[in-house]
Amino acid sequence: MDPPYWMCPEGKSWRPVDDGDVVFEPRENCELSLDLKAGVTVSVANKPYVTPEAIEEEMETLSALHPDLSLAEIGVTAEGRRILALETATREETILINATMQPAEPAARPVLAAFYALTDRSALSHSLRERFQFCFVPKPNPDGSYHGMSCTNGESEVPMFSFGRHLEGELAPEETTAFWRYAEELKPTGHVEFHTHY
Ligand SMILES: [Zn+2]
Repeated sequence: MDPPYWMCPEGKSWRPVDDGDVVFEPRENCELSLDLKAGVTVSVANKPYVTPEAIEEEMETLSALHPDLSLAEIGVTAEGRRILALETATREETILINATMQPAEPAARPVLAAFYALTDRSALSHSLRERFQFCFVPKPNPDGSYHGMSCTNGESEVPMFSFGRHLEGELAPEETTAFWRYAEELKPTGHVEFHTHY
């Protein structure tokens, strides 16, 4: 992917790697030169991302801060990570808002941004929540995010493109079946899925 690339020293924030420290061959590879002190651990990525643990923690905090919302476990991955949904009060019609299952496009933040906008106590968000139930799924592929995968989960499967297999009755990744089952239950009036790159 095109620069900028990003780095995050442990315990600090994401920052772009300086252009002079990046050698990028389009469609081939990218080399980063990082000047680090001994013993320092850094994460590098094509996009700054929030870890699935941090997202889960934030969802639990939000659920505690908003007693009118509920936190639903819609599935558990092969590695035991929970796929969670934050839901506003039930209404006749539902809008489902989720991140893509492609971890290379970290989209938990825009999903949670929509959540914050819809819980800002404004007249607009109030009337929207009176009309619709909103369901947010910011980390639909937590194993893939944890391992820093591009499209796959922790089992080298591609949940995003396995819905056809699930519908054919074939074995499909747990993320795929969990998400489909949830969406089938909701039958949303509207569906918004965030992709942050391609
Ligand atoms: Zn995408």
